[in-house]
Amino acid sequence: MKETTRLNSATLGRANSRRAVNTGVERGSTVLFESAEMLYNDDVRPTYGTDGLATQDDLRRLLADLEGATESFILPSGLAALTVPIFAFLQAGDEILVVNSCYAPVRRFVETQLKRYGVTARYYDSRLSPADVLALATPATKMIYVESPGSLTFDIQDIPGMAALAKARGILTLCDNTYGGGVLFKPLEHGIDLSMQALTKYVGGHSDVLIGSVSVRDPALAAALYKTIKAWGFFTSADESYLAARGLRTLHLRVKQSGDSALKIARWLETRPEVLRVVHPGLESHPGHDIFARDFTAANGLFMVLFKGNGDHQSQAFLNKLKLFGLGFSWGGYESLAVNCEPQVRGRPKLNDEPDPYLAGSSIRFYVGLEDADDLIADIEQALDLFS
Ligand SMILES: *Cc1c(COP(=O)(O)O)cnc(C)c1O
Repeated sequence: MKETTRLNSATLGRANSRRAVNTGVERGSTVLFESAEMLYNDDVRPTYGTDGLATQDDLRRLLADLEGATESFILPSGLAALTVPIFAFLQAGDEILVVNSCYAPVRRFVETQLKRYGVTARYYDSRLSPADVLALATPATKMIYVESPGSLTFDIQDIPGMAALAKARGILTLCDNTYGGGVLFKPLEHGIDLSMQALTKYVGGHSDVLIGSVSVRDPALAAALYKTIKAWGFFTSADESYLAARGLRTLHLRVKQSGDSALKIARWLETRPEVLRVVHPGLESHPGHDIFARDFTAANGLFMVLFKGNGDHQSQAFLNKLKLFGLGFSWGGYESLAVNCEPQVRGRPKLNDEPDPYLAGSSIRFYVGLEDADDLIADIEQALDLFS
């Protein structure tokens, strides 16, 4: 069966006595055992609520199917789903190579927390080829962190190439796979060891849940992840898990609609005189388009526009004039959002002396939700006078 059919026909609820269609919310700390002999039997799971009960199990099963994994683990946020695998597989003396276009809060984690445990993080330029990134590796390098398209800048990495070269050197790869919601790209099929997703975004889909996942194929990696999650006491609630599992049922439709509308709006913006450049990997004008088109089935609803303007002041005036686009961080919900990018672009690790191409003009990131694309175009159009 096709993935959409599997995600929608999975008989989650029918296992419970009332035969509701969907999974239920099973809450609990104490788990009752059937006999005293089972109390200290290590093969029995769950032994306690922190292991997760039926709702978490159902979500994990669907996620493993979506990611092509043997096991998917869930964590209380997307960020935790990045920090936990990094922590699980690195120890004092090790080094991780992190792409400079990573989701920004990861930098805070590696710089303030990892460092305290004697683990070094080095940034590499997202535009480097896999061979050039591997040339930076030393015997201490134990993990390479990739994200494509990169957060904010949409730089494209050759992920299959990176996974193959890293594997040959015995270096683990961790991929932030949030962009495609697990639908548009399958990192594990391309040799990545650890595929992470902020389910907060497209999977949750309604901007009302915080949850993350890490998916793996290798049982040894799964065992090590489970051990770390358990040792740290991370637990993801049944309510959040329920909402994520429910989101999976309509994930494909929402990602497609959001991506189609975004491409339409991006193409329209490319024709506008107020625009310097539209940064969208689905457009032929994007420098990473060929690799993106090779690896991804389509683009999502996010893109950045560099308008003819003199920076943040004009960006803010433009944002304040938008009516349909909400001003706020995050994305993946049903509602469209916009933010100005300059403060985040300025915060990126500087790896060379070139002027940052994303600081030319006034930069806005759009997330396109499920409103009608023509209404969103009209909303942008009525605010464009601020850039002319
Ligand atoms: C939002 C996001 C995260 C973090 O997810 P949270 O659930 O908000 O912690 C990680 N990576 C990417 C690419 C994201 O967009």
